[in-house]
Amino acid sequence: MRAVIFDVDGVIVDVRESYHLAIKETAEFYLKEEVPLEDIKRIKFSKGINNDWDATYEVIKEFGGEADYDELVRVFTEIYERLKYREKQILSREFFKSLKDAGVTLGIVTGRPKVDLEFVLDRFGIGEFFNCTVDEDDVVDKNLRKPHPFPLHLCMETLGAEDGIYVGDNRADLEMVTYYRKIYGKPMKFVHFKKVVDLDLPADFSTGNEEELRNYLLREVFQSREAEQVSLL
Ligand SMILES: [Mg+2]
Repeated sequence: MRAVIFDVDGVIVDVRESYHLAIKETAEFYLKEEVPLEDIKRIKFSKGINNDWDATYEVIKEFGGEADYDELVRVFTEIYERLKYREKQILSREFFKSLKDAGVTLGIVTGRPKVDLEFVLDRFGIGEFFNCTVDEDDVVDKNLRKPHPFPLHLCMETLGAEDGIYVGDNRADLEMVTYYRKIYGKPMKFVHFKKVVDLDLPADFSTGNEEELRNYLLREVFQSREAEQVSLL
């Protein structure tokens, strides 16, 4: 069975006014100077830093400051709590419902902490469509978090899927898929969804359009179903 697994930030949710601003405000709290959003994005995306606490730490270091990591997490969390209501939905509820109605097995692999993931799934009313979600709290060992492919493996094993498609928006997502193929030796396509951040990444499919994404996913899942049926004859 071929499952479709989604990243959250930049794919399901636009976090430019939440996480991206929280990185900026937290860094500014330590640096006591303004940090342009362009620098935040450059550091986060060019280096493929998935975890936003790590990204904040990196920004502070690059600007010549320093911070205690645990305290930074507390400052960041407080700022994010204030900004999280600014998050906007990118892929619609209807999009996920139509895939689910077509019998597609859906999962989530995200770097969000569990409470932040639940917040967004509840807020947009889409939690019911996912057969498995893997968040940052599900992977205790920091070294096994995205871009390490372990979270993707965990999701695939839980779903009982032997073939998959991962929909992500940045370099850490692409790296996770590439490592997954190498380490676990199973097929996994990478779809680059670039509605919010327009990066240039090699991908099996690339679009910023919901309808195009839906058509591609349905086509891919049905093709693999037909191939399975033929091999059973
Ligand atoms: Mg993302």
